[in-house]
Amino acid sequence: MCGIIGIIGTPNAAKESYLGLMMLQHRGQDSAGILAYDKNTHTFSLEKNLGHISSAISEQKIQEIPAASALGHTRYSTIGKALLKDIQPLHINYPFGIGMVHNGNIVNTEEVSKKLIAENQRFLFTNNDLELMMNILAEGLIAGKTDFNFDKIKTAVQSLYQEIQGGYSSLTLLAGKGMLAFKDPNGIRPMVWGKRELTLEEKEKNQSSLQFAYAFASESNALQLLGYENIQELAAGEIIFIEENGKVHQAQLGENRPRPCMFEWIYFANADSKIWNKSVYQLRLKFGQALASSIQATEAQFDIVVPVPDTSRPSAIALSENLNIPYREVLIKNRYAQRTFILNSQKDRDKMIKLKLSVVKEEVAGKNILLVDDSIVRGTTSKRIIKLLKQNGAASVSIASTCPPIISPCFYGIDFPTPQELVASGKSLKELALAIDADHVFYMDIEKFKSLFEELNTCMACVDKDYPTQTNHLDTMINKRVQHEPSHLSGIY
Ligand code: SF4
Repeated sequence: MCGIIGIIGTPNAAKESYLGLMMLQHRGQDSAGILAYDKNTHTFSLEKNLGHISSAISEQKIQEIPAASALGHTRYSTIGKALLKDIQPLHINYPFGIGMVHNGNIVNTEEVSKKLIAENQRFLFTNNDLELMMNILAEGLIAGKTDFNFDKIKTAVQSLYQEIQGGYSSLTLLAGKGMLAFKDPNGIRPMVWGKRELTLEEKEKNQSSLQFAYAFASESNALQLLGYENIQELAAGEIIFIEENGKVHQAQLGENRPRPCMFEWIYFANADSKIWNKSVYQLRLKFGQALASSIQATEAQFDIVVPVPDTSRPSAIALSENLNIPYREVLIKNRYAQRTFILNSQKDRDKMIKLKLSVVKEEVAGKNILLVDDSIVRGTTSKRIIKLLKQNGAASVSIASTCPPIISPCFYGIDFPTPQELVASGKSLKELALAIDADHVFYMDIEKFKSLFEELNTCMACVDKDYPTQTNHLDTMINKRVQHEPSHLSGIY
């Protein structure tokens, strides 16, 4: 999972990319980068490194880059380890300068890379599937080298759709030409776009008749911060090309059969964003209300409702209101504790959770606790948190998950491991409770969950195994999967 941003039309494109990227930091912390293009000198500037945005990119250098278009990326690696050479944006020089970022995963990488080598003699330098995508697009654009136009772009993206299977949103900077945005035909990963009127100062600096700047980003919160308006989700299979002169081209290429990832609303997206025009915060409230009605039916009794910070808060609040049980924030997150390799053994991981989360003992002692979390993946973090609460005197700890049981891997950019590592896979609720030392486990009902998305037919393949793309490449993907630390999706290791 990654965060991407692209800005075109303002002389502050590099600076805006940096600021907007800051709003997407939660989508990836392995590395970050910005690629900016100066149309006056025909040069690219690239800043990228491992780590968080503020340490990977020099803010001062970014301020000094005069560029009317720029791309930004923040990465969470699921394919390929976090290596310097794999950091996005990537760029190539044939048939002309092309810079690119994407958010997602390609599932048929082996087949596509073999074909690229055999038929086009293109060789790859990174483990990043974006390089494949960029080379395929570049091959498609060769025909437009001398007579470049939007029809040539459409043909290039059309053939990319035919070659590549997966879930992706991508942005491409075409040097001297403009910025291209497109989503896969299932629209699995999010991307919005918007525009704003240029200020007088910007118009003067541009020395052109441009009236508007345009921006694209993984989430609406980044564009809101930067003052962009008319923010809309790109349709599945839609492409948009903004020329350097401000002319906008739009086309529906793929089938537009949207299957957006439901996990954006569960966990990944920021609560202040809208994904596919649905408020993340409001949907999280609805998750809590729906969970409450399932729990009510069991007549289980609890003294307090406790959220696992941060994503489950809105759901826990709604749950507490609907069950009429007091809401207590007794798990306190240490925002400044980074992962440390000093604490690297199995035994040390208990210390790590204490470093990241502390407990308000006075509110916990003797209480029957209903813990609310967004999901239960490997179960390791849930187990550690339950243990921590019991060590602090809780009489009982049950857990309610807003996401239905995760039983199958994700191949579209989220680090859900092999079925064997998914703790809910093949277990009854009782067996699961035993595995994570919970007194009871409650899950959102799948049908109720689906109905909350109304007209949206979201991807829920990790829950119901209904994958939106062909599944013949999925075994290879399982073997290539990066083994992250047992990472709970709440950011607690
Ligand atoms: S499999 Fe699950 S996590 Fe992956 S895209 Fe589909 S809903 Fe999202």
